Amino acid sequence: MNLLSGKIYWPTTLTNPPSYPSLEEDIKCDVLIIGGGSSGAMCANYLSNIGLKVVVVDKGKIANSSTSVNTALIQYLGDKMLHELVNSFGEEKAILHTKLCEQSIKDIEKTSSTIDYDCEFKLRDTLYYASDVEGVSNIKKDFSYLKSHNFKAELLNKDQIYEKYNFKKDLALYLSDDAEINPFKYTHGLFEKASKNGVRIFEHTSVNGKLVKKDSTTIYTKNGHSINTRFVIAAAGYETLEIKVEKNCVLSSSYTVVTNPVDDFKNWYKRTLIWETARPYIYMRTTSDNRIIIGGLDENITNEEDRNSKVISKKEFLINEFNKLFPNIKVQPDFYVAAFFGGTHDGLPMLKQYDEFPNWYFLFSYGDNGLVYSNLLAKILRDVISNKSNYAYSLYNRT
Ligand SMILES: Cc1cc2nc3c(=O)[nH]c(=O)nc-3n(C[C@H](O)[C@H](O)[C@H](O)COP(=O)(O)OP(=O)(O)OC[C@H]3O[C@@H](n4cnc5c(N)ncnc54)[C@H](O)[C@@H]3O)c2cc1C
Repeated sequence: MNLLSGKIYWPTTLTNPPSYPSLEEDIKCDVLIIGGGSSGAMCANYLSNIGLKVVVVDKGKIANSSTSVNTALIQYLGDKMLHELVNSFGEEKAILHTKLCEQSIKDIEKTSSTIDYDCEFKLRDTLYYASDVEGVSNIKKDFSYLKSHNFKAELLNKDQIYEKYNFKKDLALYLSDDAEINPFKYTHGLFEKASKNGVRIFEHTSVNGKLVKKDSTTIYTKNGHSINTRFVIAAAGYETLEIKVEKNCVLSSSYTVVTNPVDDFKNWYKRTLIWETARPYIYMRTTSDNRIIIGGLDENITNEEDRNSKVISKKEFLINEFNKLFPNIKVQPDFYVAAFFGGTHDGLPMLKQYDEFPNWYFLFSYGDNGLVYSNLLAKILRDVISNKSNYAYSLYNRT
């Protein structure tokens, strides 16, 4: 599966990223992580300090798949609105999940300060505006849950939005302490740190066979070697579905543009993250080198050619939509991407175990908040693998 195409921005921000050898021998370990993207990196980081032998394999290069096109808005509210999660899971579970996402942002902030790269982590507030009349009603519903559970959220009316942003929207949530990051540098930084802590990392090492037993698994690589391990973490991003089909997961296509650096973010209050209630939605953020990332316009397309054929028209559409909000900021698309994007039907990520894969953990951190979800799930995994109970595990290991 070719997950993405286009001209990609994040890898241009780190010259000479670290590289790792391919596996050239048969080895044994306690935990094998399949996948060298941001999810694998967070698992490696959490597992590197608990006395286990951890190995990571990637079929290509570290951080070169979905991680390299992640627009990396870090938010605690997700694709499914909070009141929809309450309808599906009940208030207690929906709020537990949202609190865990809020905590996950704090964890990412803390971890980002422990790595050797400046991964451009920055706390940012979010403006989440109502796109239409239905959006107004949905924003009100979400706000009442946020308020009663003490999230740092405000409601902005039309005048307040206009005063801050100079555009007209009827109502918005204003959420404090979301964030942005450079996912490419973050992932490389985490792997470099994990490697210093003893995690063995192999690039160009594709998993293409397995012998699963009750207490261990032997993995066979394309270059003819084997890895015997007690636990396997499948963190292969959207390609995890090639190892195990999961009916709650769904793929679609998404589009992004990264503009030229701009001189002045006129009327863009505090350079907040911006998104909306429409589905499909459009969202935007800024970068540390003063570019603007605009993304969204997801479509139910799972064919690569169809996805790629739309990239030029989507690029123009995204720029036009941006200019409707900010007509005074002139931008050019320097980078643009068409990519597959995974979500779940019920709106929550999953950390699944299946009977036919004893001692495997499947990390489906799917959805618009992949980074927040991966951190949250990786932390639960650390507890589960080290035999500590984790009260949130059952919420993500659901059938
Ligand atoms: C356009 C777009 C915008 C997004 N925006 C956001 C956002 O704003 N905020 C956010 O939090 N998330 C966002 N996401 C989601 C986010 O990108 C993903 O959640 C995250 O990148 C997934 O990282 P990953 O490590 O799970 O997957 P990947 O980065 O895809 O890494 C998986 C790795 O597994 C390897 N692999 C696959 N199969 C094998 C195999 N058989 N053997 C060995 N290795 C294998 C691959 O080579 C790959 O490197 C966005 C995603 C897209 C596509």
